[in-house]
Formats: sequence, structure tokens, C-alpha cells
Amino acid sequence: MAMADNPAVIITGASRGIGRGIALELARSGFDLIINYAGHEQAARQTAQDCVKAGAADGRVVRAEIVQADVGKGSDRERLIDAARQTFGRLNLLINNAGITSINRRDVLEAREDEFDALMAINLKGPYFLSQLAANWFLEQKSDAHSDPRFHPRIVNISSISGYAVSTNRGDYCMAKAALGMMTKVYAARLAEHGITVHEICPGVIDSDMTAPVKEKYDQLFADGFTPIRRWGQPEDVGRAVVGIAQGYLPYSTGETIHVDGGFHVRRL
Ligand code: NAP
Repeated sequence: MAMADNPAVIITGASRGIGRGIALELARSGFDLIINYAGHEQAARQTAQDCVKAGAADGRVVRAEIVQADVGKGSDRERLIDAARQTFGRLNLLINNAGITSINRRDVLEAREDEFDALMAINLKGPYFLSQLAANWFLEQKSDAHSDPRFHPRIVNISSISGYAVSTNRGDYCMAKAALGMMTKVYAARLAEHGITVHEICPGVIDSDMTAPVKEKYDQLFADGFTPIRRWGQPEDVGRAVVGIAQGYLPYSTGETIHVDGGFHVRRL
């Protein structure tokens, strides 16, 4: 990477919600961005435009390109990585954010295998194998004779409090998120010797399209003090945590879980 280049990031599922919040915060800190989406092209375009504006407002000139790809499909994952190669020719950061909630939210006693497979493909298999592609590209960049010794690529996985807090009507979602925690540790252990860190961000209840159907339930829970910090999480709360990692403020930590949940994980009596 030439010194003048911005660092480059791929954010999966960045058209809306948390991914969009992460994209905006990374744009403000000077990243060029690949904004991945599944189906909402217009939302992805809007995010890309807003990122360029957000960067400019902070005096940064950043590029933001949109790429349609279903992270659950191998050929799409390869196309996503190829798009980043063609567009920026480098990668500093992968954010595995794209995810869906449990399809039809069936009770565990009624859960269906086809719905389980569809969720696991997007929420678990996708990040696992996209990380593999990114990690191999990181190693390739590092082996380049002109590689900057300060080049420390990173992977950030967006899991959930559902990785440890049970919902009996979203068993597959909970299990996929729990597995992302182990995936983070596996990649962290494998890549540390190469100066590559891997983190898990564990968001609480965040205001997005995913949580819109349960808004009233959580409005009441927040009002009743369900989290020590009595408010909804916002996508930018997650975005700011990502920036802390991306800027290198956690250089001696890897395989770590960072809770962005208003204190939900704190056990209280
Ligand atoms: P959201 O508002 O529903 O947005 C989902 C994003 O993922 C969209 O950009 C969507 O693209 C993309 N996406 C969905 N399926 C995809 C696929 N197969 N391939 C590529 N992209 C895909 O969800 P969110 O609330 O922002 O959640 C983002 C992540 O945070 C998820 O992993 C979720 O599990 C996790 N999380 C959310 C919460 C919460 O309270 N909201 C809490 C903890 C963790 P399109 O716009 O094209 O559909």
C-alpha cells in the first residue's frame, strides 16, 4: 500500500442498520469502503453517498463503492473480494456484519431444517469463508516486498447478545452468533503471528430494521431498566467501537469480545 492511500474496508450488509452505521464512522476516519448489500441497491447507494459526505465533513476524501453479493454463496463471496481487488487493490479491514434474524421465529419445537440451513449460510458459513478469503489476501499483501511493516490488517465480527442470551424462538440465530465467538478466537489464534488481529463486537439491542418489529417490547424493557444504560443502542454506537479497533487502539488484544450493549451483559442482583 502506498503511503498516500486510504486504508480500505469491506463491510458486509452495509446498506442499512448497523453496517451502515459502521460505514459512516469508518468514512469519517478516512477509510475507502466497499459497501456490500444483498437486495436493497438504493439503500446501498444512499449509504455510499452519505459516506463520501461524512468523510468530506471531517476533511477526508474517501471512496465508497457498492457491491451486491449474498455472503451465503461461495461464488458471491469471491466476487465481493475480487471487486475490492479491482476497485482499491488492497484490503486493511473486513467487517463481517451481514446477518438475518431467525426466519419466521418459530419455537424450537417447530423449527424447520430449510430455514436453519438458510440462516446458517448467511450468519455463519458466510463470515467463516469470507474471513478465509480476506485472511489469505492479507497474507499475500504482507508477503509483498514493498509491504509497510506497520500494515496490520484486521477482521471484526458482529455477533450478538443472542450468542449467550437464549430466545427459544430463534435457536438457529442464537447458535450462529455463539459460533461467531469461537470463529473469532480460531482466526485470532491462527493470524496473530502475522500481525493480524480479530475481534468480536457483541451488540445489544440496536435500533434497526431488524428490531423494528419488536420496538414496543423493547421500548418498555428499556424504560424498566433492562440495561444499566437506559436507551436503545444506535448503529453509530457499534460504528465507534469498530473505529477504535480499526485505528489500532487495541494493539495487544485479539480474539477479544467487546460488548456494545448498554451494560446488558452485567449480571445484577
Ligand atoms: P438489518 O437492519 O436487517 O440489516 C441487515 C443488513 O444485512 C442489510 O444491509 C442487508 O442487505 C444485509 N444482508 C442481509 N442478508 C444478506 C446476505 N445474504 N448477504 C449480504 N448482505 C446481507 O440488520 P441489523 O440490525 O443492522 O444487523 C446487522 C448485524 O448485526 C447482523 O449480523 C445482526 O445479527 C447483528 N445484530 C443486530 C442487533 C440488533 O439489535 N439490530 C443486535 C445484535 C447483533 P439489504 O439491505 O440489501 O437487504
